[in-house]
Amino acid sequence: MLIDYIKRLQKYSALRPLSNLGKKYVYNPYLRSRLALSDFPPEVWIENTDVCNARCIMCPRQNLTRQLGFMKFSLFEKIIREISEHKKRVKRVHLHNYGEPLLDKELPRKIKLAKDFGIKHTYIVTNASMLAPEMSRQIIEAGLDEFKVSFYGTDTETYNKTMQGLDFERTFRNLKDFFRIRQESGRKTPKVIIQYLPMESNKARVDEFYRLMKPLIDEKIGDSLGLFDLHNYGGGVLTDGTLGSPVYTCNYPWRTMMILYDGQVVLCCLDFNGVQVVGNVKNNSIKEIWNCGQFRKTREDFKKLRYADYPVCAKCDRTR
Ligand code: SF4
Repeated sequence: MLIDYIKRLQKYSALRPLSNLGKKYVYNPYLRSRLALSDFPPEVWIENTDVCNARCIMCPRQNLTRQLGFMKFSLFEKIIREISEHKKRVKRVHLHNYGEPLLDKELPRKIKLAKDFGIKHTYIVTNASMLAPEMSRQIIEAGLDEFKVSFYGTDTETYNKTMQGLDFERTFRNLKDFFRIRQESGRKTPKVIIQYLPMESNKARVDEFYRLMKPLIDEKIGDSLGLFDLHNYGGGVLTDGTLGSPVYTCNYPWRTMMILYDGQVVLCCLDFNGVQVVGNVKNNSIKEIWNCGQFRKTREDFKKLRYADYPVCAKCDRTR
């Protein structure tokens, strides 16, 4: 209630400083008081690949300098084995990060392994351009629990302009085929979220997005449609110098571990170049890294809104 009032002040530029004080000294202490530390990450992201077949206009992919690759199955298995020892406490395992997960031909096998090891909830975010009927059958069969589709247009013109390199007709056909195949299989998973990202090139089409997608999904079994807010990828895009000072404690170091395809652990998915490295699961266990001195120091720094030593976080708009 109070935070809604504080956020509303943000709309009026003259009252913005007041709103920021409210966020920093009222809302942030409340959020901080709710942070609970477990000795194992409640959510783990495993990047199966950082390769992508699209050039979406809001993505800082042109600034990607780290190598491209796919996670080896043996490393994936090592990670899953450890997570499975803590499976009751791990709410969700993401099998993707900064790339298109369906480009990984081993993904269905990786999903199946995770499910065989008792991982509760497996999840990917995909552009669905590679979700051909055979891939649909494979991920359904493997036991994927849920996926989100990034779909940022409502026709050839808006979609192809926003998600460059992809084709509206092909992706939309893939989606229709997926829902048909899932229904024929008699399964209720994977559940699907179709996501739209309103921006300059497509924001006039939000109603059209709902009209287009609603007939496809099955809300009774948990499918949904959603709008997503643009963010600046830790300063990777949209940084116009007007960020202001941080007012929020980022909760990532309490809730998520992010493992890149080569085993490096970074603070979050926005660090697309793998700059803020905390460890490597090839050398240490997930539990050791999660409880290491560097992670502990980061949590203390974040509580005090000290982001200056973290080049990605220092430019991130999620703490403003
Ligand atoms: S501050 Fe931003 S970049 Fe840093 S961990 Fe949080 S969300 Fe990621």
